[in-house]
Amino acid sequence: MLTMQDDKKDSTVIDDFLVTIKRFIRNPEYVGLAKGIENYYHTFLELYKNFTDVHEKLSQLEYLFKNIDQKSNDEKLMMLKKVCATFEGLFLDISEEELKEMEFFLARPIRTFKSVGEKIAQTLENKGIINVKDALFMLPYKYIDKRRLINIKDLTIGEQAYFKGKIIDIQNWSAKGFLEKRGKGLLAIVSDGTGTVMLKWFQQPPPFIKSLLVKGNELLIFGNVQIFKGQKKIHHPEIEKNDSLLDSQRTTNFKVIPLYFGLPTGINHKFYCKLIFQILQEGKNILKTLIPLHLKNELNLLSWWEALFNVHFPQEDFSVNLYESFRSPYHLTLIYQELFLLFSIMLQRKLELHKINITPLSFTGDLARNIVKKLGYNLTNAQKRVIREIRDDLLRPYPMQRLLQGDVGSGKTIVALLSALFVVESGKQVAIMAPTEILAKQHYINFKNLLIDSHLSICLIKSDLKKRDKELIVNDIKNGKYQLIVGTHALIQESVEFKNLGFVIIDEQHRFGVEQRSLLVKKGKDIPHALYMTATPIPRTLAMTIHGDLDLSIIDEFPPGRKEIKTHIWPELHRERAFSLIEEELKKGRQAYIVYPVIDEDNALELKAATNMYELICKRFPTYEVCLIHGRLKAQEKEDIMREFKDGKKSIMVSTTVVEVGVDVPNATVMVIEHGERFGLAQLHQLRGRIGRGSEASTCIILVDTKRLSEKARERLIFFRDHTDGFKLAEYDLSMRGPGELLGPKQAGLPELFIVNIVRDAEYIEFMKNRCEKLINKENAYFWETILPKLVNIYFGRNAEYLKAG
Ligand code: ADP
Ligand code: MG
Repeated sequence: MLTMQDDKKDSTVIDDFLVTIKRFIRNPEYVGLAKGIENYYHTFLELYKNFTDVHEKLSQLEYLFKNIDQKSNDEKLMMLKKVCATFEGLFLDISEEELKEMEFFLARPIRTFKSVGEKIAQTLENKGIINVKDALFMLPYKYIDKRRLINIKDLTIGEQAYFKGKIIDIQNWSAKGFLEKRGKGLLAIVSDGTGTVMLKWFQQPPPFIKSLLVKGNELLIFGNVQIFKGQKKIHHPEIEKNDSLLDSQRTTNFKVIPLYFGLPTGINHKFYCKLIFQILQEGKNILKTLIPLHLKNELNLLSWWEALFNVHFPQEDFSVNLYESFRSPYHLTLIYQELFLLFSIMLQRKLELHKINITPLSFTGDLARNIVKKLGYNLTNAQKRVIREIRDDLLRPYPMQRLLQGDVGSGKTIVALLSALFVVESGKQVAIMAPTEILAKQHYINFKNLLIDSHLSICLIKSDLKKRDKELIVNDIKNGKYQLIVGTHALIQESVEFKNLGFVIIDEQHRFGVEQRSLLVKKGKDIPHALYMTATPIPRTLAMTIHGDLDLSIIDEFPPGRKEIKTHIWPELHRERAFSLIEEELKKGRQAYIVYPVIDEDNALELKAATNMYELICKRFPTYEVCLIHGRLKAQEKEDIMREFKDGKKSIMVSTTVVEVGVDVPNATVMVIEHGERFGLAQLHQLRGRIGRGSEASTCIILVDTKRLSEKARERLIFFRDHTDGFKLAEYDLSMRGPGELLGPKQAGLPELFIVNIVRDAEYIEFMKNRCEKLINKENAYFWETILPKLVNIYFGRNAEYLKAG
């Protein structure tokens, strides 16, 4: 009946208590002055001994205050931070030693386990299963429920199955065909009354198996079902005697057997299961939960060990659907824990950035406003919104880290320029880096034209400048003559130094590696503001996982007056039809792209094919100027060709994929893509974004080599034809392929997630990101700064490096 009152008391008392503690944490210099902290604690304890709840909570802290007054100031501070962490729930019940022990165990090489011989160790290592962590993180993808045997008539081709049957016939078998390995094997026909299945050994099976292969024997059989001329068969199945007495005496007597995807050949799956079992037994008291206790309780999670054990070796509560969809409570525990660690460290990194003090910029925005007046078009609402978001960031006393996502043609460049002008106006330099010379040059010319009356100095820096020119430019960047510096990778060369770099903009940022991006950022004396732009519209959950530490701005609106792009998919045979369509457009004064896939610019054969295509096209369009551009041309040559095309001196551009990035020629209204089946969706989308940039309707024709068109490629192309929204395309791409493949290896920023799958676990990703945002608290430095990085290191191992890199 006193509960209400008590509750109130409870929280206020604890709050009062914490206020004092936090005052110390915020002002560490007081800690040295304070005497009798332990006494203070005991007074509190004494004072509230009649309030059971409060007293109980406070007395949990006994050990944290023990002898605190005799400790060094640093130790005192650490102890007080722990107190805080305990009350705010960010408390793990792990000691430093236990953490070390866990780290050591997870890194323990598989080859140190007794049952693992040299040969097996090598085979596993080749597959990337090197240490305990590798092994435990490779979760079963399927389970055989031995509690439920199936009938032979229900065996499904291509699936693993577990069933019983009686041997009705045994035959010797020998290979005759020249394609198959020569050998003498065995065949056994097994029946359970509902059907028969053939078990096949290409060589003589080992003695312990052979001894079971006796006519009339009842067997339990497990293996992958195939079919040959109507007969179901299994190659090299695992068999055991169907003897219920023996059954209960087996070593790992589990009713549900895990199956591991991609277990290397030469590794017996039963052996592997036993190994995992052994590892888990040894880790039982070592693998401690890495998620704070109150979060664990709130989400009803299990301990890490319990979760791992049950995922590998399901117990009585096994449900095939929940397990195979990664939704058992054990799987969820692993998913939540991984996401907690991922987002915590990302947010922690963001928080650290916010702690960096830089002199806030000051600008009126007049410079940018003057340029807007000269644009000849109105900014879209999305552009305006994003510019406001950036402007607000630029006024803050800590560096901006923002990702600007906007589909091809959504108008990111002008947003970049206007943001740059805010910074220029406040007297700092801005560097804009683009992945290709064509693009850098395009930005440079574009900006120069717009800035013509504004007394600003802008320069272009690229790798093939003459030595003297380069020296001059580099020198003028250093002495601050240039305010706006546009460039390629040349910008991150050592020789380039800035006078006062305040803002870094990276266009098509997915084209750069993490290291390249951070190299540019490091060129500032203060950490500069950074804006990363990308046209790769990646799905939200993926953006969150990869760029969890960045703020996100999205341009989700196109400039008005764009006509839709029509996309056709035709077989190669219809090439002439595509060419007539090009001709019609050329007659109207428009221009065309013809893209030929040269995936590897160093591949002479591929390049030859593109050149042949170019010659063919010159012949087909004798009255028009045709140009060819490919990656092996010198940068200057490429630039000249691009400029001629842009200026309308050439009508058709035959190109490999170099045209892909950011090039802007509004007069080009038709694009033919040869061998469309060889391109990925993201690339097709980038390519198609080159047309439809003006006010005329545009057409994209994809020619396919029908002989090489796989079912997957066919579906992909149809989806592409029917969708122009980059986000839809990206989501489809992501669901069809893994995220790594979608972004390519260059996206060297993707942390390797062990358990979480970005598509499958989208809802948990969103949830955990939000939850961590609420949790992270500047006051509670002990957990975030001291404990968390250790946990992340232990969990993500070498991938943690990425998570920490700037
Ligand atoms: P991307 O986002 O792919 O980098 P760009 O910045 O190259 O796109 O813009 C594509 C084209 O759209 C350019 O020609 C640019 O001048 C034009 N543009 C940008 N914003 C607008 C707008 N608000 N209204 C009309 N045209 C615009
Ligand atoms: Mg662009």
